[in-house]
Amino acid sequence: MEKTLSIIKPDGVKKNVIGEVIKRFEANDIKIAAMKMVHLTRTQAEGFYAVHKERPFFKSLTEFMSSGPIVVMVLKGNDVIAKNRKLMGATNFKEAEEGTIRKDFATDIEKNVVHGSDAPETAAFEIGYFFNSFEITG
Ligand code: GDP
Repeated sequence: MEKTLSIIKPDGVKKNVIGEVIKRFEANDIKIAAMKMVHLTRTQAEGFYAVHKERPFFKSLTEFMSSGPIVVMVLKGNDVIAKNRKLMGATNFKEAEEGTIRKDFATDIEKNVVHGSDAPETAAFEIGYFFNSFEITG
C-alpha cells in the first residue's frame, strides 16, 4: 500500500473547501492514515520547499504557505501518489483538467489549494517532515 503527503494550502482552508477535498479522496477509494492542522512558520515552510529554493517564486511561495493554517494528511492506497496528482490537476489551474481540485477551486498558479508528493522519495521526505511513525495509522 503506497503513501503520499497531501496538504490543503492556506487558500483552501480560507475558502472552506477542506471537506470538498477530503470528499474527493474518499470517493476515489483513498484512505486517510494521518491528519492534522498546523500553521507553519516561514522557516518551516522554507524547509519543506527547500528543493525549490533557487526558483524565482520561492520567497512568495514560502510566505504564502506560512500565511495561515494548513491541513496536512498522509494518504494511503494503491498507486496513491499518481492518483492524488490526477485528482489535484495541473500546477497551473488554467491548464488543469475539468473536475480536478485545482480546476474547481484554485485562483492563482501559486494559490492552488493543494499539494501532493510527486514521487516515492519525495513522499517519504514530506511525510517525515510532518509526522512521526506513531502518528500514522496502518
Ligand atoms: P506542484 O507539484 O504541482 O505543486 O508544482 P511544483 O512542485 O512545480 O511547485 C510547487 C508549488 O509552487 C506549486 O504548487 C505552486 O504553489 C507554486 N508555483 C509553481 N510554479 C509557480 C510559478 O510559476 N509562480 C508562482 N508564484 N508559484 C508557483
